[in-house]
Amino acid sequence: LIPDLAWYDWILINTSAGKDSQTMLDYVVSLARRAGVLDRVVAVHADLGRVEWQGVRALAERQATHYGVRFIAVSRPQGDLLDHVEQHGKWPGYGTRWCTSDHKRGQVYRVLTQLADEAREGGRLDVTGYRKNGNPIYRPARILNCMGLRAQESPKRAKQDPFAYDEEASTATTRHVDEWLPIHDWTTEEVWTAIRASGVPHHPAYDMGMPRLSCCFCIYASKSALVRAAQLNPSLAKEYARVEVSIGHRFKKELSMAEIIDAAVAESVDEIEDWAA
Ligand code: SF4
Repeated sequence: LIPDLAWYDWILINTSAGKDSQTMLDYVVSLARRAGVLDRVVAVHADLGRVEWQGVRALAERQATHYGVRFIAVSRPQGDLLDHVEQHGKWPGYGTRWCTSDHKRGQVYRVLTQLADEAREGGRLDVTGYRKNGNPIYRPARILNCMGLRAQESPKRAKQDPFAYDEEASTATTRHVDEWLPIHDWTTEEVWTAIRASGVPHHPAYDMGMPRLSCCFCIYASKSALVRAAQLNPSLAKEYARVEVSIGHRFKKELSMAEIIDAAVAESVDEIEDWAA
């Protein structure tokens, strides 16, 4: 299903700079260009701070700029994810995934508010700056919120509806938000084929064997991925281990960051197991 892009005031691309985000950006930009609404596409990046792979935010911006798309970065004002873990006294976990709700979705809500206000004032901001683009609208702003989730990534994601009205993100008077998963049925192979065809740079962590981007140490990641990430980011791993000791809570029940660091020193990782998220 491809929604009628011209119906929306804004087409928001949530980008982590990862392979799925950049493929979605490439795909949606081509559709928006064909529909004559490329100026309505905006890329938003939720910056998680120290915990991300190096250069992620800059890469997300570079990818957006490549397509001539306005770029907005947001982050939790009270501190990054590691600060939050220290304040909270616990790591996020299965069923308590506040890392995504507080640091991604919650921050993107602020952008939804900003974009709805801009559209309702009759203006649009694009990469060239503020530009009046029509009359004020006297209805809720229409926003298509695009996410790069794919069915192949996990059984939970496979069950997700690729297009749905987002009641939680919408309001009665200011914004109507639909969530769209443009590459929901794409395979990993198709994603990489599209990236290679686009010629747009991808993050080097993939070339070092990592199957996913975002946090270097994801709570869902496989042991092999965490060990490899610790080999590639030893200072960040030490920082995690310090936080683990200070809050007295293991990074994962079955695997502490101290154990990950020990394995990173002792073992070589030949194959990195992917994980469901
Ligand atoms: S990558 Fe993992 S740890 Fe980081 S925000 Fe996403 S789910 Fe949470």
